[in-house]
Amino acid sequence: MGLTERFREAVTIKTDWPAGAATGDEEAEGPLIRFQEFLAREYPLFHKAAERQVLDPYAVVYRWPGQQSADQRSGKKPVLFLAHYDVVPAEAGRWTTGPFDAELRDGYVYGRGTLDMKGSLIALMEAAELLCGRGFRPREDIWFAFGGDEERSGVLGALRMAAWFEEQGVRFAWLLDEGPVIGEGHIEGLKSPAAFFGIEEKGFLSLDLTVKQHPGHASRPPDVQAAAVLAKALIRLSKRPFPRRLTPTVESFFTHLAPFIPGFRGWILRHSRLLGPLFFRAVKKNPLFAAMFKTTLAMTQLEGSAADNVLPSEVKAVVNLRLLPPRTREEAVAFVRETINDKRVEIAVHGLGTEAVSANPEQARFGGSGWADLTAALESTESGCPVFPFLMTATTDSRHYKDLTEAIFRFSPLRLNPRELAAIHGHDERVSLENLDRAARFYGALLSRL
Ligand SMILES: [Zn+2]
Repeated sequence: MGLTERFREAVTIKTDWPAGAATGDEEAEGPLIRFQEFLAREYPLFHKAAERQVLDPYAVVYRWPGQQSADQRSGKKPVLFLAHYDVVPAEAGRWTTGPFDAELRDGYVYGRGTLDMKGSLIALMEAAELLCGRGFRPREDIWFAFGGDEERSGVLGALRMAAWFEEQGVRFAWLLDEGPVIGEGHIEGLKSPAAFFGIEEKGFLSLDLTVKQHPGHASRPPDVQAAAVLAKALIRLSKRPFPRRLTPTVESFFTHLAPFIPGFRGWILRHSRLLGPLFFRAVKKNPLFAAMFKTTLAMTQLEGSAADNVLPSEVKAVVNLRLLPPRTREEAVAFVRETINDKRVEIAVHGLGTEAVSANPEQARFGGSGWADLTAALESTESGCPVFPFLMTATTDSRHYKDLTEAIFRFSPLRLNPRELAAIHGHDERVSLENLDRAARFYGALLSRL
C-alpha cells in the first residue's frame, strides 16, 4: 500500500463529531481511537523508533528520541509538530461525492479533512516512516502531538497534552502547527506562489448580549420592546468598529510583500505608515487583508421568543470577536460595553475564549528558532518561493502551547488556489496527489535537518 492508499484509508475513518454527542460517547469516540490505531498499524518503523503515549481518544503524543543521550544534553530544546485528526461535519447532499468515501478523481482525493488536516498529518507520518527506514535519528528529540477535538475547542486534546508536557517538564525551541498555505492567486499583482508563515494568532471571544422584559401576550406589547433595545445596541456596535492598527507582524508582512507587487499597488504597500487611513482604505478590499488590521466583531446568533404571538422574556444576540494582538479579552469586553452604553443590555462571556498570541520580536524580523530550518525545507520543495510572516486570523491548537515554546509557526505545506482553499469546512474538500507528495517532501526535508 502506498501513500495514496494509506491517505485514502485515513480519510474514510469518520472522525467528525456527531451533533449532540457527549464526551465518553462510544460511538463518537470509536473513530478517534480507530484513527490512533490506524497510525500504529500503518507506520510500524516510526512506531518502533518513537515512544507513543495515548492519553485518551483525543490525545496521542510521540517522542522520537534524539541521538543526544540524557547525560550529554546539548542544551538545545526539542521541536514539536502538532496536528489534529478530527474533522468538521459535512453536508453530504451538497457534495459531488461521499464526504468520507475518499474518492480519487482527476488527481485529487475528495473527502472531509483532506486539507484540514489529515493530508498534512499523513504526509508528516510518511516522511517520518521513510526516514526511520533509512536509519535516520534526529539530533535532538522530536515530539508529535495529535489532537482529536481541535474543531471543537482543543480542550480534551491540545489543552490536555499541553498540561501533560508541563508535568513532564518538556519545553520546545519551536513548534509547527497547521496554518496558512503556499498561496497561488490570492493576492492581486503577486505573480508567483508564496508561502505564508503564521507567526501570530488572533484571540477568540464570544459575548452574549441579553435584554430582558416581562413576557406576555403579543396583543399587548410594551412601549419599549427588548428587541428594539437589542437592535439599537447592535447598530451602535456596527457603527463603531474597533480601531485599526498595524501589528509588527502585519507591518513586516506588507513591507516584505511590497517588492513583489508592481506599480502603484506596491508603492502603497511600501508606505503603510506614511499613508495611514489611505493605506487601510486601499488594501481592505482584499478580504484576506481586511481582518488583519483590527479586532473584528461578527454578529452570529439572534434569539427571541419561540412563537410569533408570544412576547419573549428575553432577547439575545451572540457576537463573536477575533482579537488583534495585543488586545485582551478584558479590554474587548470594556470596548463593547462602552460602545453599547446601555445598562439594559447585559453582557456576558459565552463559552471559553482565548487570548491572542503575539509573535516573538525575532520572528517578525525573520529570525530566531525555526526560521532557518523551515525556510530551508521550503526551498528544497518549492525553489525560489518567497516567504512572508503572517497573522493567523482563525484559531489553532497551538495557542494551548504558547507557554511551552519559544516560537510558534503555523503553516501547511500545500500549494492551494483560492477555490481549493474555499473547500476547507465547505463542500468538495479535496487535496491533489501532487500536494500530498509536496507535503511529504517538505516534512522529510524538515525532519532530516533536526
Ligand atoms: Zn484544522
